[in-house]
Amino acid sequence: MEQKRYAVAVDGPSGAGKSTLAKAVARELHIMYVDTGAIYRVIGVAAQRRGIDPKDEAAVMAMLPELDIGIKHGADGLQRMSLNGEDVTDAIRLPEISMYASAVSALPPVRAYLLETQRKFAREQSVIMDGRDIGTVVLPDAEVKIFLTASSAVRAKRRCLELEQRGTPKPYDEVLAEIEQRDYNDSHRAIAPLRQAEDAALVDTSELDFEQSKALLLKTIRESVNA
Ligand code: C5P
Repeated sequence: MEQKRYAVAVDGPSGAGKSTLAKAVARELHIMYVDTGAIYRVIGVAAQRRGIDPKDEAAVMAMLPELDIGIKHGADGLQRMSLNGEDVTDAIRLPEISMYASAVSALPPVRAYLLETQRKFAREQSVIMDGRDIGTVVLPDAEVKIFLTASSAVRAKRRCLELEQRGTPKPYDEVLAEIEQRDYNDSHRAIAPLRQAEDAALVDTSELDFEQSKALLLKTIRESVNA
């Protein structure tokens, strides 16, 4: 019997492991992974390069029509992002871009502009999509909703390790302060704030390693859909 198309929405604060876990789950279930944060990050890169204040709604909106934001999924399932033809997959991960992305994502017209782009993916194939408002706003009818979180201390530790491995270490206190600032921004903005959807399963990975977290996610998904 053919598998029915389904959508898995994964929301949660930054550093909870959403993208790493969602990517691994997508591979296991043979479905598409969509990282929505990457789309906001491309707009963040564009604002930074143009010297635009990412909180200046009029300036950001004036810039949007000039942006050709490309999303391509390679055979390996990796999501590559482009901006006006330039591959910005690595550039969007620069640490200073996080705050730009967070700021532009608080602008209502930016969110409205990206809504349809995100929904289109789920209409075309089975997806696991991660972000902040996927279960609440983008895909309110998703078959599976997961709110993935971990304590801010654990998330800061993981982020420090990642930065160290990339050769760009940063002091723990600084990383923790940034994570808490971004949590605050994301959960206090007026539009589509980060919050757990009523029908989402809460998965806290503070005490779990990667394999345990992945197994728990797969179990949660398989209990809801015949995947
Ligand atoms: O997930 P990531 O950290 O790459 O996202 C960058 C920023 O984009 C987040 O801090 C958040 O403010 C914003 N974002 C959002 N809604 C989404 C995905 C990301 O507001 N669906």
